[in-house]
Amino acid sequence: MWQPERINNGFREELLFELPEEKKAAGSVLWNPWHGCRKYSAGCANCYVYRIDRSHGKDASLVNKTKSFSLPLEKKRGGHYRIPYGSFVYTCFSSDFFLDLADEWRPQVWEMMRLRADLRFFIITKRISRASSCLPVFWHEIKERVDIACTIENQKEADSRLDIYRNFPVCRHTIICEPLVGPVVFSSLEGIDKVSVGGESGPDGRLCSFSWVLSLRRQCQESGVSFFFKQTGTNFEKEGKVYHIPRALQQPQALKAGINLP
Ligand code: SF4
Repeated sequence: MWQPERINNGFREELLFELPEEKKAAGSVLWNPWHGCRKYSAGCANCYVYRIDRSHGKDASLVNKTKSFSLPLEKKRGGHYRIPYGSFVYTCFSSDFFLDLADEWRPQVWEMMRLRADLRFFIITKRISRASSCLPVFWHEIKERVDIACTIENQKEADSRLDIYRNFPVCRHTIICEPLVGPVVFSSLEGIDKVSVGGESGPDGRLCSFSWVLSLRRQCQESGVSFFFKQTGTNFEKEGKVYHIPRALQQPQALKAGINLP
């Protein structure tokens, strides 16, 4: 059961769009222990956290713990946890989990993950270069339940992040090429389990070319890696023609391409 009630004001619609359909339907919860971030690489240029905060007159560069910081341990009046048993918890989707400004709060978050051994957590980061030094000493206890995916949005980040992520001690290695803002050729996909690709949504979404998407698919196919084309983004180029695609059609159009690989 999708649990939107804890989503910060203004983020519900954005996150309903960002998350894959199957996750929304399968007992998923969103948990943002802190809010706000600092722009870090090319993929951050049109960050939706900044866009939404701006529309509410807020400054997204201010990073603060949220009221939901301890959500996994909160209980209802009857004694049951607010996050139901066995839920899939999208963690830190209005910031970056490995942001340096959150270093003092992260140990408590790891501890909550350890205590809620029934939950699975999913994190996406651009700061994979910091991640190893931020892991808890009990990482081996929780790593089967905590997925950490790495964003790679262009060739520059492929060259700098891929090897770091390949050697990062997670059970499943998922690369998120979203927003894909240029062609990417991986040196190798050895050790990678899945690549998810998407264009940039939002009013100022940068162009995404179908040829870049197909190139990534080909690389995955040749390496036996799962491939998922999640969404086209707002401005999508195919065979020399640029299409302006409404948000509601961006995921259906990607699905319609029929190019996913198991
Ligand atoms: S790392 Fe993520 S949350 Fe932070 S500024 Fe970049 S896109 Fe936004």
